[in-house]
Amino acid sequence: MFTQGDRVAVAVSGGKDSGALLHALRNVYPNQDVVAVHLNLGIEGYSDHCQARVEELTKSLNVELRVVKLEDYGYSIDDFLKTRFKRKMCSICGLVKRHVLDRAVQELSATVQATGHNLDDVVGTMLTTFFSGDLLQLSRLKPVLAPKREGQSVKVKPLIKTPEFENLMYCCFFDVPFRSLNCPHSRGTHSRRSKRLLEELSKGNVHFRQQTLSLFLGKLIPLIESKLPKTTLLECRVCGMSSSNPICAYCKRIGDLMEVKEAYGNLRRGIEASGTSP
Ligand code: SF4
Ligand code: ZN
Repeated sequence: MFTQGDRVAVAVSGGKDSGALLHALRNVYPNQDVVAVHLNLGIEGYSDHCQARVEELTKSLNVELRVVKLEDYGYSIDDFLKTRFKRKMCSICGLVKRHVLDRAVQELSATVQATGHNLDDVVGTMLTTFFSGDLLQLSRLKPVLAPKREGQSVKVKPLIKTPEFENLMYCCFFDVPFRSLNCPHSRGTHSRRSKRLLEELSKGNVHFRQQTLSLFLGKLIPLIESKLPKTTLLECRVCGMSSSNPICAYCKRIGDLMEVKEAYGNLRRGIEASGTSP
């Protein structure tokens, strides 16, 4: 997944999986150039708690930390509650995280981007993505993803074969600090539903997750890749990142959000000027 000369940027969310990953990388490869990246999503009562855990961890490991606050870009994940994405918070949050993380990793000149996706996450996502028919997305769930274009980092998932429970055990055993709060937007989400589906399917077959992973990675994804048409990559006209459209999905969503925020601001100012309570 990486070699001695690579600069490895580890995306650290404050959760147990990415915490275990950073701790293990630092201890197994003490001489590797490792930098931690944390995105503060601006989720009230949650994001600052996550950032504090990450700061504690990186300080104890003596790892450089780059914190990116969405607030500094003029918005937060909570702002999407005012939009049509209010019932799809995790999907919009995922899109924002991928984009902002890619940009931060590029700015840090890291050659590798490592994330803490565990066995349960990946197999759950594989199953739901398969049933949704999004084959392109399914093919991107591999443990090593080559850069989309020159100058970008390789994306790796070192814990893809590690069950979630083992990451929890690892953190408890090595006193790795991780968040004790759940995101307020996680209730009833896709990932919770896919976890329940996975638990159901694993009943009576303890190897179900490992078998599904090796089936998808060994047979299904190579087959899909051989059939998928090659897509031409463009540069987003707004942010300059790779995109299959002239304006990338991130810039479109943020543009829409800013319009909604402006409309809300105008409405509030109008109410205040007329002296009516909202
Ligand atoms: Fe984002 Fe959903 Fe995770 Fe909350 S639970 S941080 S909204 S992906
Ligand atoms: Zn863009």
